[in-house]
Amino acid sequence: MAERHYDVAVIGGGPAGYTAALYCARSGLTVAVLEKLSAGGQMATTDWVENYPGFDEGINGFELAQQMERQARRFGAESIYGEVTEAELSVSPKRMVSSEGVITADAVILATGAYPRELGLPDEGALRGRGVAYCATCDGMFYKGKTVVVAGGGNTAVEDALYLSKLCRKVYLVHRRDRLRAPASSRQTLEGNGVEILWNTRITGLRREKTLTGVELEDVASGARRELACDGLFVAVGRVPDTALFAGQVEMDGAGYLKADESTRTSVPGVFAAGDVRTKAVRQVVTAAADGAVAAHFAEEYLLALREGAEPL
Ligand code: NAP
Repeated sequence: MAERHYDVAVIGGGPAGYTAALYCARSGLTVAVLEKLSAGGQMATTDWVENYPGFDEGINGFELAQQMERQARRFGAESIYGEVTEAELSVSPKRMVSSEGVITADAVILATGAYPRELGLPDEGALRGRGVAYCATCDGMFYKGKTVVVAGGGNTAVEDALYLSKLCRKVYLVHRRDRLRAPASSRQTLEGNGVEILWNTRITGLRREKTLTGVELEDVASGARRELACDGLFVAVGRVPDTALFAGQVEMDGAGYLKADESTRTSVPGVFAAGDVRTKAVRQVVTAAADGAVAAHFAEEYLLALREGAEPL
């Protein structure tokens, strides 16, 4: 397959990636978004996005992703669907190997996002899709009228438990501490919607036949163990940045996020990090989109300097 060259390659087609592509394309740069499956990233698995401005009634995450892709395409951004297996970021031009061929680019915007963290229990992988799930809005319907457990104490766990409380017969929230990481007021909201919170409790094992039949629990303080029968376990214990491909090339923080400040510049000249994959305080669709615009701006500035033979900023 022939090599294709672009001014800018964007790795990852979530809101950060497609906003970057839109801004690059509107600036007259050639740009390709390299995306594994389809537009949207994590956003595409969100049933209803209510906090992205401009949609007063909210919008389905998959539909918003499709609109972002179409908007970028209207200005000439290309999408290349296939997994990127190699990225050489310090060479010139930068070189990506994907299942769809080799793509080279003068600047690269990394927008690969983050994926849900696993609990790390035996059989967790085998039961994925057979009782263990990581996205309530994607898989909740399979558990209509059933009993489910949500693991975690952050905003995602709270939102998942509330979403599931509208579908399921019984929802338990299992949290390892005595206080939520989500705002304290969430406790009343959860309890008001019939969610039973099991505080100071760890999930130590999974019970199964062909599918999940229950979880094994341990009281963190007393060490007492018990089993809780359930049909589904929704794991909502945070996210892991999708940065393995860039290890050893781009500086990362202790959790594996790409180190970059508000300019989105990384430790490698001509490489920018936008969206959830970047070190930042707030990870939302709107902050990812904002990063995309900023990354496109600084990528363009980098390319101008490169072409004028100046030392890139
Ligand atoms: P998070 O805020 O990092 O919370 C993760 C939760 O999982 C914490 O309660 C943590 O417990 C628990 N946890 C982590 N590892 C665990 C393990 N191995 N076993 C058991 N429990 C474990 O993650 P998140 O809820 O996915 O949210 C990620 C970011 O997105 C946050 O900044 C959040 O505010 C934001 N977010 C915002 C919204 C919104 O504004 N609508 C919605 C969703 C997410 P500890 O508390 O004990 O550490």
